[in-house]
Amino acid sequence: MSGKLVLVTGITGFIAGQVADRFLAAGYRVRGTTRGAKAKQLSETVKVEGLEFVQVDDIATDDLTEALKGVYAVIHVASPLPGRTSVDDTLNSAISGTRNILEATVKAGIEKMVITSSFGALMDPSLRPGFAGITFTHADWGVVSREEAEKQAEDPYYVYFASKVLAEKAIWEFAKEHPQLDIATILPGFVLGPYGKHYPLPTASQLGTNGFVYGLISGGTLPFVPPFIVDVRDVAKAHVLALDVPRKPLEQKRYIVNGGNLTWREAVAHLNKVRPEIKTAAVDAFAELPGPASTLDTKHTTDDLNFGSWIDPKDTIVAAADALVALQKTWAA
Ligand code: NDP
Repeated sequence: MSGKLVLVTGITGFIAGQVADRFLAAGYRVRGTTRGAKAKQLSETVKVEGLEFVQVDDIATDDLTEALKGVYAVIHVASPLPGRTSVDDTLNSAISGTRNILEATVKAGIEKMVITSSFGALMDPSLRPGFAGITFTHADWGVVSREEAEKQAEDPYYVYFASKVLAEKAIWEFAKEHPQLDIATILPGFVLGPYGKHYPLPTASQLGTNGFVYGLISGGTLPFVPPFIVDVRDVAKAHVLALDVPRKPLEQKRYIVNGGNLTWREAVAHLNKVRPEIKTAAVDAFAELPGPASTLDTKHTTDDLNFGSWIDPKDTIVAAADALVALQKTWAA
């Protein structure tokens, strides 16, 4: 296989696995970073043309020189999700991790990067932004600071939003100081859908955001979250397309990716219709949103990436539910 080589960070993660598969399908070669013994295990067991693995235990502190050898572009997806580590660790890992990979990329003479940010970088958590009737565009920025996140440590949204705002600010500051770097950032809503083809399937404690859908298909109810839903396959598609967009002024290649709005109540009603065999909690167990839904404006992304149509969130929920039902069978086996 002779395609250009991209480094995808955190390849055993939910989004990165699909991102890697999409780059492979587009003819790129992919080197995926993974932690601990997984790199060796995957190198021995996953035999896919153009796909290789490299061990990077901590994106924030490891020397990335070897991982970056021969790489055309860096696709930086890895980042801890809130709730898994302390506030300090989450913020440090997100910010210094981003800084570490930016510095290593420049040092290696690589000029192109696509970095996964989040809708959380667009909004102020104190506004309860998902239910405030606001339309967010790629020109919006969240305002949450490190100090606020530490004060609101028990609220994972504050910590997560702070990690994404501060990490993305660090990216664009770095890009200003290093004009040779050509960067795009991808800002997804809640990402749901099927898992990548070539990587170990998650256990029940590793479901990430698909854990919400697992809650639905297990008969549970869910907390309110902003109703922004995007299919993981569209998130992957955006990473690939963004790599080819010609240089633009700073912050112009911020791409919101979102299929649309869907509340858990609407999701359950749809699942009941198309997958009656899945036993969910009653639709009425899911309250209406506490305010008018905000929206993520994807026009800039659709135009710039020539994206075509987005997967309907209803179809995403069904694809995620189907993937999880199949996954449950593998656990049982
Ligand atoms: P996952 O938890 O599935 O994947 C995260 C990946 O990052 C894992 O592979 C994990 O490795 C790796 N990782 C975590 N910490 C480190 C570290 N310190 N050094 C190296 N690798 C590390 O998350 P998602 O795929 O859902 O999310 C990926 C990215 O997308 C994140 O940046 C997240 O903020 C962003 N995002 C996600 C959304 C969602 O709804 N899922 C929404 C918007 C943005 P390991 O497998 O070993 O644990």
